[in-house]
Formats: sequence, structure tokens, C-alpha cells
Amino acid sequence: MSRVYNFSAGPAVIPDAVLERIRQDIPDWNSTGMSIMEVSHRSREFVEAAAKAEQDLRELLAIPDQYSVLFPQGGATLQFAMVPLNLAADGDTADYVLTGSWSKKAIEEARKFCTVNVVADSSDRKFTYVPAEDSWRRSKDAAYLHYCANETIAGVEFPFIPDSLGVPLVCDMSSTILSRPVDVTQFGVIYAGAQKNIGPAGITLVVVRKDLLKKARSITPSLLDYSVYDQSDSMSNTPPVFTWYVAGLVFEHLLSQGGLEAVARVNERKAKKLYAAIDASDFFNNPVEENCRSRMNVPFVLADPLLDAKFIVEAGMAGLTNLEGHRSVGGMRASIYNAMPEAGVDTLIQFMREFERTNG
Ligand SMILES: *Cc1c(COP(=O)(O)O)cnc(C)c1O
Repeated sequence: MSRVYNFSAGPAVIPDAVLERIRQDIPDWNSTGMSIMEVSHRSREFVEAAAKAEQDLRELLAIPDQYSVLFPQGGATLQFAMVPLNLAADGDTADYVLTGSWSKKAIEEARKFCTVNVVADSSDRKFTYVPAEDSWRRSKDAAYLHYCANETIAGVEFPFIPDSLGVPLVCDMSSTILSRPVDVTQFGVIYAGAQKNIGPAGITLVVVRKDLLKKARSITPSLLDYSVYDQSDSMSNTPPVFTWYVAGLVFEHLLSQGGLEAVARVNERKAKKLYAAIDASDFFNNPVEENCRSRMNVPFVLADPLLDAKFIVEAGMAGLTNLEGHRSVGGMRASIYNAMPEAGVDTLIQFMREFERTNG
């Protein structure tokens, strides 16, 4: 295999071991004589594989029994609508923390379904920090509190779990899920699109506390109703069988690596050395406040933005791809999800030093 180091923010890199397993499985999955893409979601083999995927995920995240695990489609973006449809009655207010592009989108979508109270907003400094929790203006009787644990575009990660103050805490964990252990019991709902740390796009993970099911308003389409997924094991219609299977392989792979504590140690090391390389030089800069720098998405700019294009081209020639920053912020962004090997980060750092030496 000739593989590049893919620093894309999503769809993102998938572990080599998982790709190899898929390759082996393609013609004859699980002795069915069919590939996984041709297997019925109602077959015994797939139902068992789906149950094992859920079991492995429960083990990885230590998800207690009072939580249900759902696999809808539509990505994290559909959750921006499903959350208010399932948790807020007509006329309710929901609290949202605005810390970047993704929480902004969540807020815009929620406004179609309920009154949104923005409790804090970090746009005054271009979304480079998380406002201190004691400055938040919470409403008295919010249906829930929503935040985005890791803003993938600006590279800002919450260094704390907000105090729910007794309302369900809802979190978009699309770009940080499975990167380290998290105390699920603090949350009412956790959701994440698959294509960062879980697998290919096409499936969404929703972990929901069971007492929050069956609260969807009556106009909610059944495929947007959490309880429909809960009652049908996420198979009320045809699920994305292939994506689900790959997610299961990724869960298995993470367990074989020693679970999320072990995964987090490697992630910590990768992020630390990349930020250290950026901070050690005036040629590169990351504008995010130090206590909330993302361990998964590391944006940086060059002192001379006219060199951006050259940096991208030469990085590509060195086998380092998808380093362009998001079109809304420019510069570079290195997404270093679970499946980015430490050697990829080392190669990037070496390339950055060499680029500075020849262009600085
Ligand atoms: C990628 C991303 C989304 C959007 O995910 P889709 O699956 O494309 O809908 C939402 N929130 C965050 C934090 C993301 O990183």
C-alpha cells in the first residue's frame, strides 16, 4: 500500500489495520458468501455484528445501561434539528454556547424549532477561546444546554464539562469522540458524525439517556424520533450496513490498542509536540488560547500568508495531504485524529522545520 498522511478534518483517515480487514472481508463477509454491502440488515450475521459494535462502544466509553445507543443517518447536522425536536416542546427555550462555526450552525437550526438563548459567545475574538462558565447567562427553565466540545474549524476544545444545573446537557462531540475517556453520566445526549474518529460518513452516533426518549413533539417525522431508533435497534428502515460494519471494526481496533486511556496518551503526545513546534518558531502561529487548544484539529498560519500555497504544494509532494485550513479561516489545519499515526505528526514537524529553513 502506498499511503499518504491524510490530515483532513473529515472525511478523515481510517486505521490501516481496519482497511486491510475490510479488503479481506469484501468478497465473503463472515462466511455469508457475500460482501457486507450485500448482506441484509435483518440477517442473523449482521444483527450479531451490530450488537457487538454496540457492546464494544459501550465498553470503550463506559456507557451505563440507562443510556441508549442509536445510529441514525444524516450526520451531526441532522442532530442540530433532532435535538430540539426530541427535547424541546413548542415554545420552549434552549440554552446554547456559541464558540465557533459548528455551534453557530446548531443554533441557526434550533431557532426553527424553539427559542434559543445564547448563553455566551466567543465571536468577539474570532472564536479563539471558551468563555468562562461563570460569565454564562443561563435561562431559568431551559429545555437543555447545548455546546460543541471541539470546534473543528478554529481548533478550540472545551477544557471542562459544563455544569448542567439540572437540565439535560447536550454535546456535539463529532471531532473529539473516542479521542479520550469521557464521563457519559454528565450528559443527556452526546452525538457525533462518523467521519472523524468513527469511520466513513453515513452514520451518526447518538448516546441518549433513556428518560429523554419519547418526548418528541407530535409532528416529528418518525425517522427523526429518538425513540423509534431505540425501539428498533436503529433498524426501523434500512441502515447504512457498510458504514456500521466499519464503525464496529474501528471500535474493535481501539479496544485492541488498550481502550481510550491508551488512545488518549498517544493523542496527547501528538498534539503536544505539534503545538511545541508551532510555538518554538515565529514563522508559524496558532491563535487559540492555550488552555482550550484542540488535540484533534491544529490550525496554524504562516507569518507570510503569500507562502501558504507553496507550503500546501510542497507538503503534498512530501506525502502530507489536506493541510489547507477551512475556507472560512485560511492558513493551515492539521487534523490529527486517532488514526493519524505519530509518525505522520513527526513527518509534518520535520517538513515544517525544513520549510522554515528554506523560506523563513
Ligand atoms: C464535521 C462536524 C459537523 C458536521 O458533521 P456532518 O456529519 O457533516 O453533518 C458538526 N459538528 C462538528 C463539531 C463537526 O466536526
